[in-house]
Amino acid sequence: MVARVNAFSSEPEDVQLLRAQTRRLVDRELRPRTLEIERERRIPDELIAKLRELGYFGLTIPEKYGGLGLSTWAHLAVQEELGRAHSAFNMLISGNNGIGVMGLVQSGTEAQKARYLPRLASGEWIAAFALTEPGAGSDAQAIETRAERTEDGRFVLNGTKHYISRGDVAELTTVFAVTDKSAKAKGGITAFLVEKGPPGFRVARVQDSMGSDVVKQAELVFEDCALSEDAVVGEIGQGFVTAMRILDLGRLSLAARCLGTMEELLALSTAHAQNRVQFGRPIAEQQAIQHMLADIAVELTMLRPALYQAAARRDAGERVTTLAAMCKLFASEALGRAADRAVQIHGGMGFMKDCPIEAIYREARMMRIVEGTSEIQRLVIARSLLEEREGGGRS
Ligand SMILES: Cc1cc2nc3c(=O)[nH]c(=O)nc-3n(C[C@H](O)[C@H](O)[C@H](O)COP(=O)(O)OP(=O)(O)OC[C@H]3O[C@@H](n4cnc5c(N)ncnc54)[C@H](O)[C@@H]3O)c2cc1C
Repeated sequence: MVARVNAFSSEPEDVQLLRAQTRRLVDRELRPRTLEIERERRIPDELIAKLRELGYFGLTIPEKYGGLGLSTWAHLAVQEELGRAHSAFNMLISGNNGIGVMGLVQSGTEAQKARYLPRLASGEWIAAFALTEPGAGSDAQAIETRAERTEDGRFVLNGTKHYISRGDVAELTTVFAVTDKSAKAKGGITAFLVEKGPPGFRVARVQDSMGSDVVKQAELVFEDCALSEDAVVGEIGQGFVTAMRILDLGRLSLAARCLGTMEELLALSTAHAQNRVQFGRPIAEQQAIQHMLADIAVELTMLRPALYQAAARRDAGERVTTLAAMCKLFASEALGRAADRAVQIHGGMGFMKDCPIEAIYREARMMRIVEGTSEIQRLVIARSLLEEREGGGRS
């Protein structure tokens, strides 16, 4: 049943091959280690080495710089398949394939690309993306980290970023700061590439969360941290535009990851329902359980075509901000419902740490918050509908 749900006939052939390779890797090497990773709170070194060897840190980085240069569709197929394994795998590679490098790939200079992309593509370096601050989350344009220009052309950063995924381990972080207070989002925010370790930049603390914390979030502090002009990525003042553009791919990737996790929940829940006997027969024979399985299957089957349609349109050069918001909103909320149903199907076992459902349930809660909350996705979608109408579009 799960295999049938997974079938998707219009997928390009090269993507099907990559998907099959990733699926094999997940089934043979990653999924069997789920409980160990959760318990030890770390990914075994040999699995990180395997991901590096297969190029999974450079999925979206152009081949010229050592990456695989994959299409959006292929990238999402990998994210989906990895979504069936422990969430730490997606979290670990998502900076190097998405928000941590896209600014550099799209707007970096040749010198910046040559310096950083090969190391990121190989997984030698880990990337992070630092936009959120204590006073600026959903309202990202309210950031207060300042970058003041000195007479010798450098920039001096002061401010605090928090909840930054991989911030504690990243060798390269794309940091957003205000360069013109009077303009802010309208030309006053600039993106900077910050390497680990310049004076005045420190990881203030790792922030414990309700998630698995294998890949962590960190608070980053900048105190008179001087950067050369070479650290600016994209044009001065265009950082907010860069950040918003990066988020389209990030949101699609998150939706793909949710889809894979829903598949895993369905597989685990179906198997459990067929094996668990109560009142003299498998609980799968109870209609109440069948309905929960059916609801998970319906939502994941509805999500898949929408997601890959968005991928195909992005690959064709279209701007997919609204579709990406729709996919992320639906996927993260559907995953929450699926995780809740999966715990219910597993009964007490679903609440216990020696069952993989328990960690998935906690981790799923994050998906409605990161890279724009559900409320912000709805705002993005509604804004595009209203703009269309104002422009004399669809009624
Ligand atoms: C696990 C994790 C990893 C993260 N990783 C990163 C990272 O790598 N880099 C990074 O920069 N950030 C990261 N973040 C931050 C994340 O993007 C923010 O948490 C998110 O954008 C929400 O901001 P906030 O937490 O400040 O909530 P707030 O903005 O304070 O929102 C609180 C509530 O108010 C609602 N709300 C706010 N404004 C509106 C509105 N206009 N209309 C309706 N409702 C509204 C929100 O939807 C939410 O329900 C991460 C967060 C988490 C939890």
